[in-house]
Amino acid sequence: MIIKQNLINFKKGLPDQIELVAVSKTKPISDIQEAYDAGHKVFGENKVQEMVNKYEELPKDIAWHMIGHLQRNKVKYMAHFVHLIHGVDSLKTLIEINKQAKKHERVIQCLLQARIAQEETKFGLQFEEIENIIKSQEFVALKNIKIIGLMGMASFSDDEIQVASEFDSLKTFFDKLKNKQLSTFNFQLSTLSMGMSGDYKIAIKNGSNMVRVGSAIFGARNYIA
Ligand SMILES: *Cc1c(COP(=O)(O)O)cnc(C)c1O
Repeated sequence: MIIKQNLINFKKGLPDQIELVAVSKTKPISDIQEAYDAGHKVFGENKVQEMVNKYEELPKDIAWHMIGHLQRNKVKYMAHFVHLIHGVDSLKTLIEINKQAKKHERVIQCLLQARIAQEETKFGLQFEEIENIIKSQEFVALKNIKIIGLMGMASFSDDEIQVASEFDSLKTFFDKLKNKQLSTFNFQLSTLSMGMSGDYKIAIKNGSNMVRVGSAIFGARNYIA
């Protein structure tokens, strides 16, 4: 019951246009089922095998988001069902997603992950690398993927001004890319995935329209990362 209540409360506080990805990593099937029964159908996982197992057990109208760092050799296991891949950070990975999507006659939606945090440990592309990817001949030829936006993670920091400026930098770049009107079949920006339990309010203030929230809904995770 607590998950249902958390979810209802969380959604009440969320502006209408903001999409919520409920991050269910490490949580059991029963927790996801509870959120599903409360009407939520968008879930995020950061490990392919875990997501596949949950996909197989749970109702098929769930939209599964892969939010973790992606290993290319794992793409094939989720290509038949994944709804959106958030953490794409290389052209090679896009080419692999395209190849696996084609086998299933699908177009897989992706976000390019930008590096916005000051911390060194974060994955992601520099803005310039993103521009180079979408301008490349190899990218234009990919018919079974579609870049619908960008994703970024801010520093894990109490410094709200720092966090806000990191989110703002991505929003500014997102708008700049949109204004360039590079739109092709496989590149149509609409989604800006920024914000987690600890910083989603700052992310929304700075232009996010998709938040990835785990512990604020499902409770703290107890695992050693
Ligand atoms: C785990 C995770 C989240 C959710 O984190 P919470 O702090 O539990 O909300 C969001 N995004 C990514 C990429 C994650 O790995």
